[in-house]
Amino acid sequence: MLKNKSALVTGSTSGIGLGIARALARAGAHVMLNGFGEAAVIEQLRAGLAAETGVRVLYHAADVSRAAEVAALVAATETAFGAVDILVNNAGIQFVSPVDEFPEERWHAVQDIVLNSSFYAIKAALPGMKRRNWGRIVNLVSAHGLVASPFKSAYVAAKHGQAGLTKTVALEVAETGITCNAICPGYVLTPLVENQIEGQARSHQLPRDRVIREVILASQPSKRFVEIDDIAALVLFLCGETAKSITGAAIPIDGGWTAR
Ligand code: NAD
Repeated sequence: MLKNKSALVTGSTSGIGLGIARALARAGAHVMLNGFGEAAVIEQLRAGLAAETGVRVLYHAADVSRAAEVAALVAATETAFGAVDILVNNAGIQFVSPVDEFPEERWHAVQDIVLNSSFYAIKAALPGMKRRNWGRIVNLVSAHGLVASPFKSAYVAAKHGQAGLTKTVALEVAETGITCNAICPGYVLTPLVENQIEGQARSHQLPRDRVIREVILASQPSKRFVEIDDIAALVLFLCGETAKSITGAAIPIDGGWTAR
């Protein structure tokens, strides 16, 4: 389906990004991986995915909070594959604190890694997409790009910002073959959420299964985590030709969270 296309997925050494990279490679796209982790583990992931799918899979260690490193990441992908046809802005972190106690350094880290990184990558990848008159930009936002929760001020602000960036980019390229959309998942069981489960279990003195149901999934009516493969399937759909008129959308995949 995506044969001869090439994709760059930020934050794809773990969780949702890794699932998306895997799905894109299985659909035939060459993939540039990015993110942090142990070099040997990342190399195993990269080589395993390349062997399984037969596409080219590369890795770049850019810290996406830095503009120059993101520009280098996009340039390296274009040099290796000839293009960034599909850009998935997925890298993200979370930090939880009352707003009046929020450490400024953590605030800036969340803005840099979630929001500013998306701007840097779109800015760098868009000229090539415009030249080819084809592109798919998918921003991994969150239900927190549509609604808020207490104690997540930096994340909610950054995710709302990412949703706004998505709409603006979509309007700027609406007459081209490029689309730009936001996917807004509810809770997905990844390392990012595991950390929150552990933190909440400690602060509420509750067992893990009660923290999951009563704290983490309190606002998710399905009471089930969203599955990574379901998000990856939505990304694939948005990358297809039949999704060419879907642009500027913020698509919830959240077990009913934002229906309330
Ligand atoms: P994760 O912690 O499993 O993965 C995050 C990835 O981002 C990792 O590969 C990590 O190395 C990378 N990363 C972090 N900082 C980076 C940096 N400075 N430069 C490059 N890479 C960096 O998290 P996840 O749950 O898979 O989250 C992926 C995205 O989905 C995030 O944007 C997150 O906000 C969003 N999201 C997650 C959930 C959820 O419930 N897990 C829900 C909605 C949205």
